[in-house]
Amino acid sequence: MVKQTIQIFARVKPSVRKQQQGIYSIEEDEKLTPSLEILLPRDLADGFVNNKRESYKFRFQRIFDQDAKQEIIFEIIAKPVAESVLAGYNGTIFAYGQTGSGKTFTITGGAERYSDRGIIPRTLSYIFEQLQKDSSKVYTTHISYLEIYNECGYDLLDPRHEASKLEDLPKVTTLEDPDQNIHLRNLSLHQATTEEEALNLLFLGDTNRMIAETPMNQASTRSHCIFTVHLTSKEPGSATVRHAKLHLVDLAGSERVAKTGVGGLLLTEAKYINLSLHYLEQVIIALSEKHRTHIPYRNSMMTSVLRDSLGGNCMTTMIATLSLEKRNIDESISTCRFAQRVALIKNEAILNEEIDPRLMIVRLQKEIADLKAELAVATGELRTEALTEAELHQLEKLIASFLEDQDPESRLEVGADMRKIHHCFHHFKKLLNDKSTIKNPVSSESTHQACQELLEGEEHTKLRDLLKQRDNEINILVNMLKKEKKKTQDALHLSSMEKSEARIPQNSPFISKSPASQSNSVSSVLSQDHSIYRHRSSLLHKKTGVREEMSLGRQEAFEIFKRDHADSVTIEDNKQILKQRFSEAKALGESINETRSKIGQLKDAITQRHLQQAALGVSENRITPSLPDLQEEKLRSQLEEEKSRYKSTFMRLKALKVEIEHLQLLMDKAKLKLQKEFDVWWAEEAASLQVNSPAANPQEGVKPVPQWDQPQRLSKKSSQRWEVEDGADSVDVCDRNARRILPSPRPSEHSQGPSSSRTQLQDSISEKQISSIPLTGDSQTDSDILAFIKARQSVLQKKCLGSN
Ligand code: ADP
Ligand code: MG
Repeated sequence: MVKQTIQIFARVKPSVRKQQQGIYSIEEDEKLTPSLEILLPRDLADGFVNNKRESYKFRFQRIFDQDAKQEIIFEIIAKPVAESVLAGYNGTIFAYGQTGSGKTFTITGGAERYSDRGIIPRTLSYIFEQLQKDSSKVYTTHISYLEIYNECGYDLLDPRHEASKLEDLPKVTTLEDPDQNIHLRNLSLHQATTEEEALNLLFLGDTNRMIAETPMNQASTRSHCIFTVHLTSKEPGSATVRHAKLHLVDLAGSERVAKTGVGGLLLTEAKYINLSLHYLEQVIIALSEKHRTHIPYRNSMMTSVLRDSLGGNCMTTMIATLSLEKRNIDESISTCRFAQRVALIKNEAILNEEIDPRLMIVRLQKEIADLKAELAVATGELRTEALTEAELHQLEKLIASFLEDQDPESRLEVGADMRKIHHCFHHFKKLLNDKSTIKNPVSSESTHQACQELLEGEEHTKLRDLLKQRDNEINILVNMLKKEKKKTQDALHLSSMEKSEARIPQNSPFISKSPASQSNSVSSVLSQDHSIYRHRSSLLHKKTGVREEMSLGRQEAFEIFKRDHADSVTIEDNKQILKQRFSEAKALGESINETRSKIGQLKDAITQRHLQQAALGVSENRITPSLPDLQEEKLRSQLEEEKSRYKSTFMRLKALKVEIEHLQLLMDKAKLKLQKEFDVWWAEEAASLQVNSPAANPQEGVKPVPQWDQPQRLSKKSSQRWEVEDGADSVDVCDRNARRILPSPRPSEHSQGPSSSRTQLQDSISEKQISSIPLTGDSQTDSDILAFIKARQSVLQKKCLGSN
């Protein structure tokens, strides 16, 4: 048993505004325990919640300042937890902090760069690497991904669902057994045998989460997500099984309702969030108080699910994510206070070992049979009746598999039945005689030689198998590259056709025009037989494929939208990186092929050398060479060098493959997000058009467009958001409106006040409106909307030019 308090770490998000950096400082005491001091600016200290203190100090296990990279976060925080999970203990890492403080960035990772991947992908990579290294145990890994929103659990990995709303996802419920263990009903567990499979599951869950999220329910800031790795290990032959669970938890934003200042539906949601985090706090307070007998785990789904992680059988770690800017000071202080209470909780992690009853039964049955047989021998009750045909057949099968087994410690288990033992000896004798007749041995020397040949033969077969396996792997990669090349050519062809034929309706914005957007087909070559991957591809394709039926007007609008969207830059950047990675992979593939042919040549040279030496020996009448052959030694050392080069290049190629896969998944996600946002924007435009159209305002004349003198909803929204983003009063709103039709709702920028973007969206459009706009609308209406968008753009541009 390992007794340990919950470890607390703090991570400060990089600040956009340099001048705000004097707000906190990090120090270490004489015992090297770091503490975070938050300094209240005077103006804030006066009005700050009944309190005029000017500085607050909080201790943490370690504090990661703004420049801390994801790698160090993994090394210091997640790796030790992953190690204890590999050893059979439960582990939990949860991120707590206000919206926009970097919880998702820390747990899952950034959406742009491979180097920004967070704790989940890095931990998966580490776990699978360790499993591969450890051949002493048999491991099985399963993944589950649960989202808790408004006290309801949803399975993010259900392969069948076609959800477009969170409510369409399978509902997960908790059940408590008589021993007070919590079970999750309806939560699917998916086996993952490789890092790639596990990564695909993570992205599938994240994609489902994104698809299910509507502008009205920004579930990502209001829900808790629990990604769980279930690890089972067993030593071969043993009936003892170890189970360990690793929960990686991205909690909902911890901001208080009062501050968000929203009303109606959003208030209900915000209350729920707080309710859920409030229950978490209650559990934590109860746990940190001595002599408390009742811990209110059952009050909420999240505390029920994380019961073991809080004061139970688990090694738990908390990351307090902080966005230390002036306007977030009160939230940051409350996050730190929460962490201090969490640090008082003691957990007792025990090894989760249990005996597998099925294995135990098999073992006991065998033991009984053996004992019976031994007893028969001991008491002289020898059985004399001949073995039946079936028994003989069974025995010969056993002998064959015993002979084939490469393990020098394997045993032929026939029990204590003398008839069987005798039969085995007969069989071996026969085999030996048969072999001798074939080989026709004349002397012990030639027997020795025969053995040698047999061994060399085995070695040879092994090497051949290995080579075959490597060949297959390389073929897959080469295929991947070939497909990639073909697709590039096709895409080039397509785009040249596009230019000559104006716009064809099938020209989906996501019908690939560049090699990098071929991700689905390329990835499916990479992991052809992973059904989950196929599911992801088909899911993403389905979601992106809708564009194929878009009207011309809508397509053009999509192009405009894409051009101005911040994520397009990310997608383009990633396409470039992906291209680079592909050429790196190609170069590595070529280098591997070269190394392999060098290895072949060296082996041939060694064989050649052997033959020469042997011939020399015969001509000089020597049995063994008098001196070690220097040339052969040189060849052998070259061979070793090439082999190790081959191995290291191969490992690099493998790592590159994972990176390529990760980048493709990131891009798929970004594209889907872009498309979702386009749909919302389009619906807003359509709604605006309805409001501004002559039909809607019959008194206002015929022209739908000239309303643009007053800033429209979107431009108003834009200006509001820019104020939120920059906090600068002198922002040239007009210019920005003209350039950015829809400011990309980047969480880093606006999420500090989650209500801001939400209320704007709420102002401008209702969910009903969005759903009432058909995805593939009537093309006449679509071109009206497009004209409307363009007209507004040009009015805005003119206005800006005029005002400058
Ligand atoms: P949360 O999940 O707490 O709401 P996010 O993880 O979504 O917050 O972070 C908000 C934004 O800030 C994202 O755009 C994210 O990429 C960025 N971000 C957060 N932490 C960091 C960091 N340590 N380094 C760089 N960018 C970060
Ligand atoms: Mg988040």
